[in-house]
Amino acid sequence: MSSTTFLSPDQALATLKEYESGDGLSLRELMDTRRNGQGGLTYNDFLVLPGKIDFPASEVSLQTKVTKKITLNSPFLSSPMDTVTETQMAIAIALHGGLGIIHHNCSAQEQAAMVRKVKKYENGFITDPICLGAGDLVEDALEIKEKLGFGGIPITETGKVGGKLLGIVTGRDVQFRDASAPLADVMTTDLVTGNSGISLQEANQIIRDSKKGKLPIVDAQGNLVSLLARSDLLKNQNFPLASKLPESKQLYCGAAIGTREADKDRLRLLVEAGLDVVVLDSSQGNSIYQIEFIQWIKSTFPDLQVIAGNVVTREQAAQLIAVGADALRIGMGSGSICITQEVMAVGRPQGTAVFAVSEFARKFGVPTIADGGIQNVGHIAKALALGASAVMMGGMLAGTTESPGEYFYHEGKRVKTYRGMGSIEAMEHQKKKPASGVVAAKVKAAGISVAPSGDDNAATARYFSEADAVKVAQGVSGDVVDKGPLSKFVPYLYTGLQHSLQDVGVKSVELFREGADKGQVRFELRTASAQAEGGVSNLHSYTKRLFA
Ligand code: GDP
Ligand code: GDP
Ligand code: 5GP
Repeated sequence: MSSTTFLSPDQALATLKEYESGDGLSLRELMDTRRNGQGGLTYNDFLVLPGKIDFPASEVSLQTKVTKKITLNSPFLSSPMDTVTETQMAIAIALHGGLGIIHHNCSAQEQAAMVRKVKKYENGFITDPICLGAGDLVEDALEIKEKLGFGGIPITETGKVGGKLLGIVTGRDVQFRDASAPLADVMTTDLVTGNSGISLQEANQIIRDSKKGKLPIVDAQGNLVSLLARSDLLKNQNFPLASKLPESKQLYCGAAIGTREADKDRLRLLVEAGLDVVVLDSSQGNSIYQIEFIQWIKSTFPDLQVIAGNVVTREQAAQLIAVGADALRIGMGSGSICITQEVMAVGRPQGTAVFAVSEFARKFGVPTIADGGIQNVGHIAKALALGASAVMMGGMLAGTTESPGEYFYHEGKRVKTYRGMGSIEAMEHQKKKPASGVVAAKVKAAGISVAPSGDDNAATARYFSEADAVKVAQGVSGDVVDKGPLSKFVPYLYTGLQHSLQDVGVKSVELFREGADKGQVRFELRTASAQAEGGVSNLHSYTKRLFA
C-alpha cells in the first residue's frame, strides 16, 4: 500500500500560490524563447492558455482603437487590394463595426468616387442633399435614381440646398410619368418638414410619426437646410455595431495611397470626398518619402488620421511615431499572396513583429494593426494577444460577395480571383473603361460620377521604382473559394472572437492586451507535433463547416 498523503481539496487554491508564477509562459517569456535559438514566432507557434470564465461570450466587447482618434466596435480592417476593398466591401465591413481601406490601383477620381459612395451610404442629417428645380424634368429625377441609388429629391427655387423649398419628388411621383414632364407638375407640395436646429432624435421622431420616407429640414424663411431619410433609421437599427462618425452618422471610410508627389493631389480628392483615415501603403514604411509625407499630411489635413507602415521593427516604428503617425500597420512578407521574404530576404515572422512593434508603440498611445497572415479566428485572437489593436485581412475577406470581381468555377469550386498587389497581374491590370453616357450635371457636381482613369498605377508604385527595367514580383495571383456574404462571415468572425476571449477569461480586447502585458494571460509554445495535434487527425474523411 502506498503511504502518499494527499492535500485536501480546500487547499487547492492556496497551493497555487506556492508556484512562482502562473502555469505556462508570460508574453515576454514566450517572446524571449526566440533568443534561445527558436527564431521568430508566428501565430501557429503558440497558444493562449485558458483562464476563468465568469461571464457569457455575448458580453465580450470587441471595441478597440484603430487610430489615436478612431474607435471601432470590431477589430477588423479590410486590405487595400483591388480584389478585396472597393465600395461594397467598405460599406459592408463598416456596417459590421470594422473599417474598409479602399485600394489605389485605379485613378484618383475612381478612388474618390468610391470613398464618396461609402460616405453617402448612411447619414443623420444629409447636409448636402441632391436637389432639383421646378423646371427640371422627370428624366432628370430618374437619372439621379439610376446613378446614385436614391430618388427622394427636394425641389427648391434655386435647384440647390439653401434655396426655398417648393416640394419633393420621390420614386412614386415620377413612376408612370412622361420623362419630359417638368417636376413642377409631379412634385408633392404638401410637406411635413422639421425646423432647423432640432436634434436628430426629434427629427427621427417626426419621421417615425409622419410615416414619410424623407424629412426636409427648413429654416425660418422656408429655405432647405438638410434632409433626413427614413431608410437610415432602419440601417441604424439593423447594424448596431456600425462604425460611424458621432455627429453625421456617416460610415467611416479609409483609403490607401502612395507617397509620391501625385499622391498629394490624390489625397486632396479623397479628403474632399470625406475620407476619415488614410493608409500610407508601402511594404517598407521607414523611408524619407513616408516620413516627409506624414509631415505634409499633418500640416495640410490636421484632422485626417494617418495609418503609417508597414513596419516590423521598433526602429522603423520609432521613425514614423516621431512624425505623428496615428497608427502603425505591421507586417512584411506574412501575407497569404506574398513572396517578399522569399525574393527580398527581408521581413519578419508576423508574431514577433506584432509583439515587438506593438509593445513599443503602446508607450506612445499609438494603436497597431496586424496586417497579413490571418487565416482563421484564432489568428485574430493571437494578434490581439500580442498587442495589436486590430487586424487587417486580405485573403480572409476575398471571395465574399462584397469583394470586387466575378465568381467563376475552377476545378469544380466556385471561386473569385485574389491577388497580391505586387503580383505582375495586379501591376499590369487593365484600367477600367471610363463611365459611358452623359452623366447629369447634378451627379457630376456631387462628384459621384466615375471619371476616366488616370494613368497612375498604384501597384507599380508600391513595389517598384520607376527606374526598374525589370519588374520583380512580390506577390502571386490565384483564387479563393466563395465565402458567401459578409453579413454572415463577419458575424462569424465576431462571435468566434468573443468565444475565444471568453475562454481566455477576458471581457474585452483592452483587458486581453492588459492581461498579456501584465503576465496574467498565459501562453504556451507549440512544437511541430503539438501543431499537428491541434489539427483534425485520424479521420478517413471529413467536412469542415466553419459556421451555421
Ligand atoms: P445609437 O446610434 O442609436 O447607438 O445612438 P446615438 O446616440 O449615436 O444616436 C442618437 C440618435 O440618432 C438616436 O435616436 C439614433 O437612433 C439616431 N441615429 C443613429 N444613427 C442614425 C442614422 O444613421 N440616421 C438617423 N437618421 N438617425 C440615426
Ligand atoms: P429613396 O427613397 O429612393 O431616396 O431611397 P432611400 O431612402 O432608400 O435612399 C436614401 C439613402 O441615400 C439614405 O441612406 C441616405 O442617407 C442616402 N443619401 C445620401 N445622399 C443623399 C441625398 O443627397 N439625397 C437622398 N435622398 N439620399 C441620400
Ligand atoms: P492576407 O490577409 O491575404 O494574408 O494578406 C494581406 C496583406 O498582404 C495586405 O494587407 C498587404 O499588406 C499584403 N500584400 C498585398 N499584396 C501583396 C504583395 O503582392 N506582396 C506582398 N509582399 N504583400 C502583399
